[in-house]
Amino acid sequence: MNTKTIENHVLHGYSMGTRRFVTIIRYGSGKSGKKVYIQAGLHADEPPGFVVMHHLIDLMDQADKSNKIAGEIILVPVANPVGLSQWRDDMLQGRFNFTNGINFNRDYPDFFEKVAESIDGKLYNTAEKNVALIRETISENLSKIEPKDETEYLKHLLLSLSFDADIVLDLHCDYQAVLHVYLGTPLWPQASDLPAQVGSEVTLLSSNSGGNPFDEACSRIWWDLAEKYPEFPIPAACLASTVEFRGQADVSHEYGTQDANNIFYFLQRRGFILDKAPELPPLLNDATPLRGVEHTIAPCEGVVIFFNKPGEAVKKGDKIAEIVNPIETARKHRVTPVTSTIDGILFSRSSDRYARPGRIIAKIAGKKPLRGKGDKLLTL
Ligand SMILES: [Zn+2]
Repeated sequence: MNTKTIENHVLHGYSMGTRRFVTIIRYGSGKSGKKVYIQAGLHADEPPGFVVMHHLIDLMDQADKSNKIAGEIILVPVANPVGLSQWRDDMLQGRFNFTNGINFNRDYPDFFEKVAESIDGKLYNTAEKNVALIRETISENLSKIEPKDETEYLKHLLLSLSFDADIVLDLHCDYQAVLHVYLGTPLWPQASDLPAQVGSEVTLLSSNSGGNPFDEACSRIWWDLAEKYPEFPIPAACLASTVEFRGQADVSHEYGTQDANNIFYFLQRRGFILDKAPELPPLLNDATPLRGVEHTIAPCEGVVIFFNKPGEAVKKGDKIAEIVNPIETARKHRVTPVTSTIDGILFSRSSDRYARPGRIIAKIAGKKPLRGKGDKLLTL
């Protein structure tokens, strides 16, 4: 039986004579009540996820023809047509909304307070009933939102499609990076099969990253409510993760096939595809706290020369880069070393080679939480 449907959902208008749409592909009957939601390109200038989706659609089509899809699987292969329209000087600028400068993956609504108030006195002693009650209450809150512009409408649509899913994967990439994964701390280690299967080299955990990104909009409410109502069983009912498929230029059919296969195996192991999954590969590196990530900051202006590739282990005090400024008068001032302040894995670095004071040029995942990080753990 072919259960696949494709819907082109037209977004609320932006300018006269302008309409964009989001393509939503659905598989499965949804009768089991179990749901998976996967999207790519929320940051529209991050192309690897689109290729993963291309190969994942092939795998899902095959599974669908063989009646092997259990539950409901929703794919949104191109999640941000607004960002995809933002060309400037022949470069796609898909991270920040041109209209207001806000990152497309920040500031999703947080329904915790409203849902907590609504369910007060109504919780059950069974987890299943509480999951249903909380999802219904989130749904009510979502339906009350009246998006004011195209991007708010887009965010509302993506969240409406995903908030009640058991698994949410948001496919991204970094500038130059190894494959890494963001997960909620309360999902660990139960969710370790995801980074293990996709071959993640760095897995970053946080209970609250401080930016209200899309994945947390789906998952964080569960552990926030569990903390508020410890006397009732409230599970972490949504395994939501941001998966960073390496760097922006790491686009190939080899990577796309491998990554789509790994997502497919992960879904097999989780019972959404009715076939035995292959043996789970070992996790490459233990998860580390998002609060332990050093954002290496350029101390001055100039051109960056890196000494480490993404994925390499560095030690505190290692010189990871130099910043060269040829117009400094004295020779000794023309080159400024940049050192790591922690032991860890340098998992990401900037794509261009320009430094200015305060600019993040690399990210290093350390094992210990760092002091003085504040509440905002994500980059802009
Ligand atoms: Zn991204």
